[in-house]
Order: sequence, then structure tokens, then C-alpha cells
Amino acid sequence: MTLVAGVDIGSTTAKCVLIENGKILGKSLAPVGVELVKDAERSLEQALAETGRGRGEVAVVTGTGYGRFKVTFGQYTVTEIGCHAKGAHFLFPATRVVLDIGGQDTKAIKINEKGEVVDFAMNDKCAAGTGRFLDVCAGALGLDVSEIGSLSLGARHPVKVTNTCTVFAESEVSSYVSRGKEAKDILAGLNASVVSRSLSLMQRVGIEPEVTFTGGVSRNEGVVRTLGYRLKLPVNVSPLSQYVGAIGAALHGLERKEATAT
Ligand code: ADP
Repeated sequence: MTLVAGVDIGSTTAKCVLIENGKILGKSLAPVGVELVKDAERSLEQALAETGRGRGEVAVVTGTGYGRFKVTFGQYTVTEIGCHAKGAHFLFPATRVVLDIGGQDTKAIKINEKGEVVDFAMNDKCAAGTGRFLDVCAGALGLDVSEIGSLSLGARHPVKVTNTCTVFAESEVSSYVSRGKEAKDILAGLNASVVSRSLSLMQRVGIEPEVTFTGGVSRNEGVVRTLGYRLKLPVNVSPLSQYVGAIGAALHGLERKEATAT
């Protein structure tokens, strides 16, 4: 039995999972600050604390995410694309398209039956349609991003958000507020805008079932439902959806270790 760790240092959060024998034993999630090496170390320590296991018992640590090179104590680094592919395949083996919406980018990844990347498309030039877009717009409504999903489900007359640029969308939100629009209708409009941008990325790689939604924005039930409705397909979302990159990193590390041992 080999205990392996995946550490995903994203633009917004640090995630770590510990896997042994195909089971997730521990995990951690915390916001990132400016000292990413420390954030990475802390995320591993916090995940270990959940398991009661010691650092010396971890056979391999693999870093991923935009800050993967800050996982300086790890043995391997793997791109987020490869990790989301592998992590989504682990949780939902019939996945063919992964949609990952994180804090600062959105990726559509086409994968094969082994969880290998076949194609991908990503939006990383600006924050439009990403978690940051929702964070800023929720802030303009005086809300936390974690409130968006449930509130938006009560929308009766969703507004149309025409600006994709985060800065202009924030002013558009304020203008809807001053015109008396309800927060739930504005939030539903924001979610729909995120879904529209995601669909165009997914179309670039080709949409086919099953679709698995990963990254922090998949915790927004409003985006999940709108995505399923627009796709006319069920969308897989796990309670571990924000950890999928870290899960994939841990599994990649295990594979590499096993490959070098043979
Ligand atoms: P990264 O890997 O780039 O740090 P994550 O995959 O951790 O990004 O996603 C972060 C984003 O997830 C945040 O910007 C926020 O919009 C969204 N998010 C996080 N928690 C929640 C939640 N409880 N409900 C809705 N959205 C959330």
C-alpha cells in the first residue's frame, strides 16, 4: 500500500488529497496567500492531520495548478489539464468531457476511456466566465460567492448580462440593482453568462456524454443546473469536485512511481 499526495495550488485556493489503495483518506482546502510554498506545505500538513498519518509515510507528492512549481517538496509536477482529466476519470469513469471552472480560468478537456487527454480548449486570457467573474459580481451585490447557487435557483425573471468583461459586468450588476432587479434574478443572469462561455469552449473540443464538471464553480448549483439544461445532458458533479485536480495529481504521482519501480 502506497500513500500518495496531490497538491493543487490554484489562483484562489490550495487543495491537497491523500490517496492510498484507491481511497481518499484525507483532504484540505484553504485560500492561497502570497507565500505559495508555505500554502502548499500547510495544505499537505492539514490533509495529513485528518488521517493521523505522518509526513514520512507519504511515498510521493505531486504538484499541480498554476502554482505547481511552489510544491518544492514534491517529486513531480503535472499540468492541471492532465490532472483534471485523470481525477474526473477516477470519480466518473465514463467521463468524455471535463469542464473545469476555477478562480481564474475555464477549461474544456476531451478525454478517452483511460482518462487520457485527447484535446482541450481554455480561456485564460481574462477572468470572463470564471470564478473571479462570479466572486466580483457577488461582491457587488454584497453577497459571498457561496450564496450564489441556492439564491439563483429562486429566480423568476433572470436578467440578461451582456458584458463578459468582469469590470463592465460589475457595473452592469450595480445598474440592475439601481433599477430594482432582485438579486436572485441578477445571479441567475450571471450564472447563465458563465454557462454560455463554457459551452463555446466545450463545443471546441466536441460535446459528448458523460460530462463532468470540476473546479470551485461546480459548487454553484445554479451553474450546474443551467449547464445541464443547456446541454440537455446530465452533468456529473462530485462533492469532491473542487479537489479533482489534486486527486489527479496524486494518481499521476502513483503511476510515475510505479513506472520507475518496474
Ligand atoms: P483555483 O484552482 O483557480 O484556485 P478553484 O477550483 O478552487 O480555483 O475555484 C475557485 C472558485 O470557486 C472561486 O473563485 C469561487 O468562484 C468558486 N467557489 C468556491 N467555493 C464556492 C462555493 N461554495 N459556491 C460557489 N462557488 C464557489
